[in-house]
Amino acid sequence: MAGNGSRNGCLSGYEEEARWGGAMTITFLGTGTSQGVPMVGCGCAVCRSEDPRDKRTRSSIYVAAPECAWVVDTGPEFRVQCLRERIDRVDAVVYTHSHTDHMMGFDDLRPFCGSGREMPIYASAETMSDLKRVFNFAFALETPVRGYVKPRPHLVDGPFQLGETTVTPLPLKHGRAIVNGYLMERAGRKCAAYLSDCKEVPPVVIERIRGVEALIIDALRYTGHPTHLSVSEALEVAGRVGPGATWFTHICHDLGHASAEARLPAGTRIAYDGLKLEFP
Ligand SMILES: [Zn+2]
Ligand SMILES: [Zn+2]
Ligand SMILES: [Zn+2]
Repeated sequence: MAGNGSRNGCLSGYEEEARWGGAMTITFLGTGTSQGVPMVGCGCAVCRSEDPRDKRTRSSIYVAAPECAWVVDTGPEFRVQCLRERIDRVDAVVYTHSHTDHMMGFDDLRPFCGSGREMPIYASAETMSDLKRVFNFAFALETPVRGYVKPRPHLVDGPFQLGETTVTPLPLKHGRAIVNGYLMERAGRKCAAYLSDCKEVPPVVIERIRGVEALIIDALRYTGHPTHLSVSEALEVAGRVGPGATWFTHICHDLGHASAEARLPAGTRIAYDGLKLEFP
């Protein structure tokens, strides 16, 4: 099947299989809340911590399968996250929503648009319209300019394929905004659900992701917040989903990695920048 050109918007990179061991891998590019950790000007114990797991850039994941690799969101540190993880391939971009901590690295997709290649962008209609407004210079470009981002918009209104992975949008309430979480399935197997920003997870979504191998979920802090799940609310959602493992993300400086993780029930962990989850 190698070398047959484009499949579902992805390069047919089966030759990459050796490199990725045939597995889908999720790399946490960032696990921090909108201001990141440490927070500018803060002298709290977590912001001063020397544990590298307490250095959280803005939340995003990189998903690499042998046949296709994509990012979910491009935050303000997208460029440094790519350098840190030595990412040299992005076949598509999937957006959860258009808050600045999730989209401001958009222009740093330039290195992945070599030779005038168009970059498939998957987003809800509302998020796409914000992307077009903020990055009008890229979307309005009629003829591709070498070295610039040339986006190819795909409106997300149901499941879509990225290579062999079925990606299903999961609408979630995030304050007044409706954002997309995403379920990633391969060969009928529910590998991972990514719910980075939400205040509520509706029953229909719980039902859809029940038993997922890895639940990656917003757990901002211990105390309640109007637009994000707290630790106890995230644990309550996880209890209803029944995943193989739960990974907290989009975390603020209230949670020190080691001390906060020690307080969590078995099977629930705190993600950190650079962490890789393998789905062999
Ligand atoms: Zn966010
Ligand atoms: Zn702090
Ligand atoms: Zn947000």
